Amino acid sequence: MIHPGMPAIVRGLVAQERYVYLCTNAILMERKLDEYQPSKFLTFSVHMDGLSDEHDLAVCRDGVYDVAVKAIKAALKRGHRVTTNTTLFDDANPERVRKFFDAMMELGVEGMMISPGYSYQKAPDQQHFLKRERTKELFSRILGNPKKGWQFNQSPLFLDFLMGRREYECTPWGNPTYNVFGWQKPCYLLQEGYAKTFRELMDSTEWDHYGTGRNEKCADCMVHCGYEASAVEDTFGTMSGFGRTIKLTVLPTSR
Ligand code: SF4
Repeated sequence: MIHPGMPAIVRGLVAQERYVYLCTNAILMERKLDEYQPSKFLTFSVHMDGLSDEHDLAVCRDGVYDVAVKAIKAALKRGHRVTTNTTLFDDANPERVRKFFDAMMELGVEGMMISPGYSYQKAPDQQHFLKRERTKELFSRILGNPKKGWQFNQSPLFLDFLMGRREYECTPWGNPTYNVFGWQKPCYLLQEGYAKTFRELMDSTEWDHYGTGRNEKCADCMVHCGYEASAVEDTFGTMSGFGRTIKLTVLPTSR
């Protein structure tokens, strides 16, 4: 929301009836709300790392959780669509995460998105990144007995995958990233060069080199940008995936 052209960019995309998820830490959101018109095509996706203790610690600044909550309330009051997105690391406490889900639902957000953090090889703090088995254990403890009112803004099969109940191969092109350098290869987590056009990205990337078991950089990755697309493919490409998606959509507590 720092970008001065963002309201115009959003207006243009909304006019084309494209769905925009405007990701923000919500620090400037309340101040900038006047610049955005509520629309079914626009959703503010607020990054929240947990309840106030966890969130403020993660962003290294006291009071940021309260600022975000105030901004969410203001946006909802004006009729905006609001969701949250949360990245969990090894030190996440399942009970606290469950309380955080309750708090977001009480606020009235439309849905929540969660994902394990990507174990970024070059990050200085390696000890807090989740390994695959630990990811499955953690998400099973958080989601294994879901509360009735929790709404997730993502595929129920991806949540099954995070709990180790389904196995998927990565679909690295499932959520392509375009930025000022071009189309990023192969996904937004890895930077293996850029293509000038989408066609060049699709044709010149060695897709078989990526995904768990194929590349050491992908060894512990279970991140939504590669695996949620695989879950969606399962929903619409197999009878069992479709049936399970329907069941979990109608009866989310049947996990
Ligand atoms: S597993 Fe897929 S999403 Fe994860 S880093 Fe590798 S290519 Fe990217």
